[in-house]
Amino acid sequence: MTRALSPETAALGRATQGALFADAALGIRVLPVIGEQKDISYYGSVARGVLNGPEVTGMGFWSINPYVGCAFGCAYCYARYAHRYVLERAATANPEHDGLQRDIASLPPWLAFERRIFVKENAADVLRRALRNGSDRHLALLGEESIVIGTATDPYQPAERRFRVTRSVLEVLAEHAGLSIVIITKSPLVTRDVDLLRRIARSSEITIHLSLITLDRNLARRLEPRAPTPEARVRALARLRANGIAVGINVMPVLPGITDKPEELERLVRTVAEQGATYVNACALRLQSAARQRYLPFIEQEFPELASRYRATYARSHAAGDRYRDGLRDYFRRVCARYGVPFGHIGDGGEEDTGAEPRRVEEREEAEQLTLL
Ligand code: SF4
Repeated sequence: MTRALSPETAALGRATQGALFADAALGIRVLPVIGEQKDISYYGSVARGVLNGPEVTGMGFWSINPYVGCAFGCAYCYARYAHRYVLERAATANPEHDGLQRDIASLPPWLAFERRIFVKENAADVLRRALRNGSDRHLALLGEESIVIGTATDPYQPAERRFRVTRSVLEVLAEHAGLSIVIITKSPLVTRDVDLLRRIARSSEITIHLSLITLDRNLARRLEPRAPTPEARVRALARLRANGIAVGINVMPVLPGITDKPEELERLVRTVAEQGATYVNACALRLQSAARQRYLPFIEQEFPELASRYRATYARSHAAGDRYRDGLRDYFRRVCARYGVPFGHIGDGGEEDTGAEPRRVEEREEAEQLTLL
């Protein structure tokens, strides 16, 4: 099934901002705290809409984010700034809500993103109404457009274990046939829903995009402090594949000087190929302003020996240099060929010839960028 997606890299940053703010702009009425877990508070929220259309996001696909904020706390995460917008709107709309006012005053925005999670409790109901048979949205989704779940938050972060909003959204999607669905996650919790994923796969396309940037557990802990371990993600890959679910591995972002050691990347590719990964995709870190504000201080603190190189590399551009990106792509192309796993990439040079359908490769790239940049 061919899905029309915008491939223009130049438009990506603008479109990404649109996507995140579009979600924030849907309007969220905040309810009291519905749960606490260590240092994380969950705010129940009532969303007016959960399906962000291409005309709003500026991208060629639809997106759904069951939560606002993400407890995994990746140092390179791009999505933090949208959370601040939601938090401020919620505080303004609920002046009597002491917790919200305290959060604004006491938590820096990057940390609030990880510790104050908005739960769209009514997401399934809203989605069901939006997708009623014959509605414009339903017809669009039967046509050329895909739904990407998890463009600005991980839909299987710890909140999902308790609140099950992502599962409820998938149950609505399972009521329809002929859809094209992508889920982006770092979490093996996705395997909890394997029954549902299989049901959906019988009548729609569904692909899991599992993000994995290193197999080094200690390094992963520093970079993605609360995300599941690499081993757990590899086990999730194996389980999903054993159940016939398509799983791509997104090695995104590759962090220059940190996760780009060739022997480590080869080990990663070999491992996921052995577990039957449907494809591998990769791209180098991009640092747009929101990610830059968190990531560069993180580098200063955790990898001070790299700080000046990072500042120089990303001084004039949000992207690593052409030589680096081309070299990375060539490297992945060779290593993926060695281990017999398709490599998909869109970039300045176009896609790698992997046997993967080009349109789908573009989508993978853009969808993941939304999360990671
Ligand atoms: S990169 Fe993804 S998993 Fe990591 S904090 Fe951001 S939204 Fe969560």
